[in-house]
Parts: sequence; structure tokens; C-alpha cells
Amino acid sequence: MSDRRNFIKTSALAATALLANSKISAEVNNKAGKEVKKPIVISTWKFGIQANEAAWTVLKNKGRALDAVEAGVMVPEADPAERSVGYGGRPDRDGKVTLDACIMDEFANIGSVAALEFIKHPVSVARAVMEKTPHVMLVGEGALQFALSQGFKKENLLVEESEKEWKEWLRSSNYKPVVNIENHDTIGMIALDENGNLSGACTTSGMAYKMHGRVGDSPIIGAGLYVDNETGAATATGHGEEVIRIAGCHLVVELMRQGKSPTDACTEAVNRVVKLMKVRKKELKDIQVGFIALNKNGDYGSYCVQSGFNYAVCDATGNRLIDADYHLK
Ligand code: ASP
Repeated sequence: MSDRRNFIKTSALAATALLANSKISAEVNNKAGKEVKKPIVISTWKFGIQANEAAWTVLKNKGRALDAVEAGVMVPEADPAERSVGYGGRPDRDGKVTLDACIMDEFANIGSVAALEFIKHPVSVARAVMEKTPHVMLVGEGALQFALSQGFKKENLLVEESEKEWKEWLRSSNYKPVVNIENHDTIGMIALDENGNLSGACTTSGMAYKMHGRVGDSPIIGAGLYVDNETGAATATGHGEEVIRIAGCHLVVELMRQGKSPTDACTEAVNRVVKLMKVRKKELKDIQVGFIALNKNGDYGSYCVQSGFNYAVCDATGNRLIDADYHLK
């Protein structure tokens, strides 16, 4: 992993290259009377910077947001050094790498896989579920069977480093996800393309050392991801159980539909998480939940439970990492 200085340098170079290669596309949205800032892509955590670059190559060539988000999240999925997504992801308590992913387009087409083993790109299997089956979600063995029937390759996803750590973990077998540390983390990505259409994708290996069969928010449409082409899109990261409890991303999008800005919508969803933690007498400091949102005008925002969550934004002005504002101060 590069150090912070290198990272900033790389990001600055990437931003310059983006500027040189693209022109700002803006138009007046007559309905709202607002300038539409498009194309634009946003994604969770710092691996979002590289993921955004891949998405941007699609968007800057007037490609579809759906293709952009799939190409984008495939970057951390394929990277064995990213230990919370795809290949290289940390295993469950039985030593099995099980992946969750979903995708949603501008027509409300949806596809999702959960607890999928041995396939490096669960997002592409989710897209195949969306495009080639009459269903929207496949899990476990059935998802694997379908993936193989579609020509996806069966591979071992457990890298040496993850196996070593898992064996160390077995000594205590204490399940306690650490806030903001990469024993979880998800890439959620949402984009608005040149044609003004929204799509999103979300993919993760979930909480490290989870129970075998545990599914988080990430593959659940409405929880870890939601897209409404009239209004906006949202995606989530953090403790999936808490995101599912409030149907998080659907809530964020509905709040934007009621007129809230992306930031205010994310804030209200986080407030809901906070409230339910209190009702359930659970310690808020033990969890992280972060939302990012993008509306139809290309405005974006985020909010999370506690400091440490960041997200990457890429448009014609560059690709940058932004620290999300948070509740627990
Ligand atoms: N939301 C993911 C899950 O619960 C993990 C994360 O984003 O940190 O599986």
C-alpha cells in the first residue's frame, strides 16, 4: 500500500490527467432550473479513487452509468491487496471467502448475489442475474452454479495473508468488527452519465470472520444500494446489520425525493441509525455506518456515524478524496 504522500501525488496526477482529457459538461435542467453537473461518479473509501478512474474512462466517452459502475468496482474486486472486497477478501469464521454484490440501473433493473464463493467478480454475476434471469437475487450454491453456467471461472479467493490472519484469529475466535479498519469495508459506487441517467453497484466480502452464511446490507437492494432515476442514488458501507434495519439507501433516496439535499438525506438516515441504537441500548461508538448520495442534478453528499469514513468523487474537475462529516463528535 502506498504511503499518504504518494497517494496524494497519485491523486493529483490523476486529477490533472482527467482535466486534460475532458471538458465540463453542464446543461440546464429545465424542471429544476438548476445546472446539471454530469458526468460524475462517487464511491466509498479511498480505494474509490482507483475505482473512479476506471468508471471515468467509461463516463468521459459518453458511456452508460451502468457500465461505468461495473467497471469501477471491478478494480478493488480484482485487487488481492484490498482485503475487504472480492479476490483477497477476508474469510468468514470457517475460512471461506463469501462475497456479496448488487447492481441497479436507470430502469430499476436489479441483480444481486449473496454468499457467493470462488468467483472474483461478484458484481458481474449480479449483472448477469439482472440481465439473464427472471430473478433478482441468487445466493450461495445456486449463485455459484449460475456463475459457472455463464462462463465465470472458479478460483481460490483466499490469499495467503488472509489465511494467515484468519488462523491467528481462530485462537481467540472473538467476533468484533473494528470500526474503520479494513476487516470490513465495501465499495459502493453511484454514477450519473452524460445522458443524465443514474446507476449504482456495491460489492464486498462483508465482515471478516462473520458466521458462515451471514449476509450484510451490500447485496440488498434498498439497504446497501438504491437508485431512482427520477431522484437520485445512494450506497452504504459499515455495519450492514444497522443499514438493513433502517432500509438505509432506499430511505436516503426517498428523503432526496422529498427535497432534501444528498448531505441532509444521508444525515437523516444516520440519525435514524443513531436513534435505533439508543432504543436497542447498543453502544454507538462500536459501529460505523456511512452513506454517500448523488442526486439527479449531480449534487453529492455523505454522512456517517463516526470519523474516519471518506469517499472519492470524480468529475471533469478531477478525482479527489473527501472526508465525510460525522455524528459522534
Ligand atoms: N456493509 C458491509 C457488510 O456489512 C461491510 C462494510 O461496508 O464495512 O457486509
